[in-house]
Amino acid sequence: TGNGTGDVGGTIVPGTAPGFPPFEIKEGGELTGFDVELLEAVVAETSYELGEWKEFEFDSLIQALTSGNIDVIAAAMTITEEREQTISFTNSYYEADQSILVAKGGDFSPSSLDDLSGRPIGAQKGTTGEQVVQEELVDAGKLEPSNYKAYDNYVLAVTDLENGNVDAVVLDKPVAQTFQQERDVEIAFTYETGEAYGFGVRKDDNAVRQALNEGLQAVEENGTYEELRNKWFSE
Ligand code: GLN
Repeated sequence: TGNGTGDVGGTIVPGTAPGFPPFEIKEGGELTGFDVELLEAVVAETSYELGEWKEFEFDSLIQALTSGNIDVIAAAMTITEEREQTISFTNSYYEADQSILVAKGGDFSPSSLDDLSGRPIGAQKGTTGEQVVQEELVDAGKLEPSNYKAYDNYVLAVTDLENGNVDAVVLDKPVAQTFQQERDVEIAFTYETGEAYGFGVRKDDNAVRQALNEGLQAVEENGTYEELRNKWFSE
């Protein structure tokens, strides 16, 4: 193991935003999830050590990274051109589309974004789910800006959905599937966005990015990646 360069190294401090199951969750006060275990396995393949995890709201992670508070983001973060203006990403380690969650057994069963017109809709601040609501509904004139409810995290959004305070929540499909199993909500339909998740690193941090890419390749080759996928995803 190791990345073969030998002379680099040091501690990489990771940051995440819990409440996005099964990627990052708190279980009995402990941080775990697919991203957490994957990054730990990836870094173990490099000459770096992983520091203590730090937790943020999703919307604060990029600032935490650029300010040097953390060195890597592991938060099911989609690689987007907009984010790439500010940070860099490793190679992709997971793919996702956006699903539309509604209350389980309720009488609202939309089958297209058009069906969400004029309804109170929720998403988490700073996400690609929010971007779908903003661009496809608000900017398209199908939703009043006041009908969009922005949450600090999706756990709060799903609770509001169960309580009838919003009619739908837009979020990454694998997380929607998890909420569907654990909460009183169900997927009405999925909107294909073809997103790819990467670990976020500072733009000038080529050494860390390269080490993480080599670590990712190593865990894909040695079977750890598949083990973790099987452990955290039932599909
Ligand atoms: N993949 C989505 C994004 O990058 C959501 C990530 C999240 O909420 N942790 O915006």
